[in-house]
Amino acid sequence: SAPAGSTADTAVLPAVTSAPAPARLEARAVSAWFGTHKVLERVSLDMPAGRVSALIGPSGCGKSTFLRTLNRMHELIPSAAMSGEVLFEGEDVYGAGRRLTDARRRIGMVFQKPNPFPAMSIYDNVLAGLRLTGTKASRREKDELVEECLTRAGLWKEVRDRLRQPGGALSGGQQQRLCIGRALAVRPRVLLMDEPCSALDPTSTRRIEETIQELSGQVTIVIVTHNMQQAARVSQQCAFFLAEQGTPGGIVEHGATEQIFGSPADSRTADYVAGRF
Ligand code: ADP
Ligand code: MG
Repeated sequence: SAPAGSTADTAVLPAVTSAPAPARLEARAVSAWFGTHKVLERVSLDMPAGRVSALIGPSGCGKSTFLRTLNRMHELIPSAAMSGEVLFEGEDVYGAGRRLTDARRRIGMVFQKPNPFPAMSIYDNVLAGLRLTGTKASRREKDELVEECLTRAGLWKEVRDRLRQPGGALSGGQQQRLCIGRALAVRPRVLLMDEPCSALDPTSTRRIEETIQELSGQVTIVIVTHNMQQAARVSQQCAFFLAEQGTPGGIVEHGATEQIFGSPADSRTADYVAGRF
């Protein structure tokens, strides 16, 4: 038989064996439209490497749209357009020669509603994204990756004895942690989380928050949340989005989370974080 490492099945890209450093992400004057409806107006935000940035603000102000411009999901929506730049470690993800799949691999995403493949095993769910990146791995490397990613997602102990069960058999909170594990398996350097706890009970929410705290420093996180206590607990910096009557959404104020919650500069931020909206 062939020596280890020489067959297609064991020819491994670096992605499988080592987690890369978290990346700095910068939005520069990002505007976005759906058809002729402008929903974001020149949003600029630095999302420092390894930090947790929280995006807060009322529904409809463009937070989800902004997240989708960061990893190029926005352009998959028919009628959607954008302008501006998104810099990943200083390089425009929309630059000439940059591919959609590069952005999707480097910048992972977790959604509000947990969306594991329900009939697929827990084990295969974790590995599902590797197909997207064309990564090949041996059985042993897959086993190690599944254990590592589920451990980082805070789910390993609960599922280690039932990895062959379908993802859909897990509770909502477990499914969301499975989705975090699946996102981590492709070794993203940034993780976008769009209201990851909105569909979960308080205990499951707490577990996800602990996972976010453990991941901080290892991966850059951008999280949209309507839960002000959550933003205060998990983030180091915070941006307040608002779309005033008839105008596209934008950032009213951003800064250190302590400052946004403790001494906001803008009265609209003060009203929002105090629940007066
Ligand atoms: P948020 O996440 O802050 O609630 P969104 O980014 O979802 O805000 O929405 C911003 C604006 O864009 C809203 O007016 C919303 O109706 C509109 N919008 C969002 N998604 C689409 C879409 N796929 N097609 C058309 N309009 C959309
Ligand atoms: Mg949203």
